[in-house]
Amino acid sequence: MKLRFLGGVCEGGLAFRCLRSNICLGVNVMGAKMADAVRLCCAECGQMNRVPLARLASGPKCGVCGAALLDGRVMELDAAVHDKMIGGAARGDDLPLIVDYWAAWCGPCRMMAPEFAKAAREMAPGIRFAKLDTEAHQAVAQRAGIRGIPALILYHRGREVARLSGARPAADIVAFVRSHVGAQTGPGVG
Ligand SMILES: [Zn+2]
Repeated sequence: MKLRFLGGVCEGGLAFRCLRSNICLGVNVMGAKMADAVRLCCAECGQMNRVPLARLASGPKCGVCGAALLDGRVMELDAAVHDKMIGGAARGDDLPLIVDYWAAWCGPCRMMAPEFAKAAREMAPGIRFAKLDTEAHQAVAQRAGIRGIPALILYHRGREVARLSGARPAADIVAFVRSHVGAQTGPGVG
């Protein structure tokens, strides 16, 4: 994971850019003060963590439970953590999150899983990838308005940015994220 510091300018105010995903990391730099850290919600315990930018690419861990906050792997969410990472409580969370709503009985979901994992590795650490089992957590899927699976929803600062349905190859998933996060990571968003 290589990051390049851009001295605070990246498409209108971001501190640096992930060289691999070529995506500006969503550091909110409201006003003149440049952010020196990002806030990330832990996918394991739901704790909000503050991670200095300089440590973002070196495997930051949750201060409470020790789980990796960003390691390029697809994180498994349960209902409680899903609700912490999405919605009002996640307003302060700085990096985009894409969730794959899936189920074990769904053939296309199983087909897409390795593609989703590949996209996750490609876009780390700028974008977090997670999945939610819609069979085990039906109420969550219902609240998210999931009608068919697999369905991908891209979130930023707790709000839905866009959704994509059907099984997709990794390249489509990466293109989908890139087409939406650019506009969402500038200053003044959220
Ligand atoms: Zn944790």
